[in-house]
Amino acid sequence: MSIADYMAECLLHPAHGYYATRDPFGAAGDFTTAPEISQMFGEMLGLCLAQAWLDQGRPSPFALAEIGPGRGTLIADILRAIRAVKGMAEAAEIHLVEASPVLRARQAETLSGHRPVWHDRVEDLPDLPIFLVANEFFDALPIRQFERRGAGWAERQVGLSDGRLTPGLGPVTRYPALAARLDDTRPGDVVETCPALPAVATEIGARIALLGGVALIVDYGGWHSLGDTFQALKAHKPVDPFATPGEADLTAHVDFEALAAALAGAGAGVTAMTPQGVLLERLGITARAEVLARKLSDAALDSHIAAHRRLTHPSEMGQLFKVIASYPRGGPPPPGFDPLP
Ligand code: SAH
Repeated sequence: MSIADYMAECLLHPAHGYYATRDPFGAAGDFTTAPEISQMFGEMLGLCLAQAWLDQGRPSPFALAEIGPGRGTLIADILRAIRAVKGMAEAAEIHLVEASPVLRARQAETLSGHRPVWHDRVEDLPDLPIFLVANEFFDALPIRQFERRGAGWAERQVGLSDGRLTPGLGPVTRYPALAARLDDTRPGDVVETCPALPAVATEIGARIALLGGVALIVDYGGWHSLGDTFQALKAHKPVDPFATPGEADLTAHVDFEALAAALAGAGAGVTAMTPQGVLLERLGITARAEVLARKLSDAALDSHIAAHRRLTHPSEMGQLFKVIASYPRGGPPPPGFDPLP
C-alpha cells in the first residue's frame, strides 16, 4: 500500500488507529505541542483573531473553529484571551473538526461550560464567518512519496516480507501531477504530496472569501517541499515508522506553498509564511511573558522562561514551525503577518 494509505490506517483506524485510541500529548505521551507548552501560545493567537474580528466589523454570530483540537487547550486559551474584547466571546459559536472519539471526549472536558459542536469534516462547518485555527493538523494528513527515476517516478510503498512490514517501491510511472517537479529535482530525489490538503485548504479559503473570517495555520514545514520528511515519534523519540503501526505518531512536513496555492485559488487573501517565533514576538509574547512572570518564582518561573524560549527561539520551535494566515482579499492581513510578496 502507499505511504498515504498506511498513514491513514495507522492514525485513524477506528479500532487500532493512533489518534482513535489515545490521548498522545504531554510528558507521559509521545509528543508535546505548542498549546501544551504554554498558555501564551493560544493567548497570542486569540488576540490575533480578535483584531481580525474587529477589523471585519465584529461579525455576529461567527464560528470560532479549530481543526484537530487535540486536548482542546488551544481553543480554551483563545476563549479566555478574547474575553478582553467586548462582545466577541458572546458572538462566538465553537465548532471543532475532530476525527478521534477519545480526543472529542477530552475536548468536551476541557471546554465544560461551553457548548462546542463537533464535525467530521471542514465541509460540515456552519455557513458563518469562520475564525479558525489549526495547529499541527496538516502534518497528520497522509502523504504520498515518490522517488525520481530518470524522467519518471516510483512511489514509495509498504509491503509485507517475512511477516514484517517493509518499505518498497512501486513501478516507475510518469505522474502528470509531478511534471513540474522534474525541473527542480534530480534522479534519486524524493518528493511528497499530500492528497487531502488541497481540498481542506480550498474549503477554508472559499468560506473566508464568501463569508469572511480568518484562518491561522501553524505547522512544521516550509515552502516547496523536497525530500523525505516522513517521521514517527514514540515517547518523544524518533522510531521506525513501520515497526509498531498504530502505536507511534506519524507526521510529515507541511508544504506551505501548497496551502497558499489552495487558499488563494479559492479566492481568499494569503499572507507570507512567517516563522512561529517571529509571529509570537510581533504579537507581544514577551510583554505577556513578563506579566505572567511577576506571579511566579523558583521552579515555576524557570519553567515559564523555558516555555517562552521553547515556543520562540530559532533553535527550538521558533524557526521550524511556520504560520500562514488567510483573510478576505482586499482587507488588512491579520496582525503580525506580512502580505504575500
Ligand atoms: N491542535 C492540537 C492537536 C494536534 S495533533 C495541539 O496543538 O495540541 C492532531 C489533531 O488532529 C488530533 O486532535 C487528531 O485527532 C486530529 N486529526 C488528525 N487527523 C484528522 C482528520 N483527518 N480529521 C480530523 N481530525 C484529525
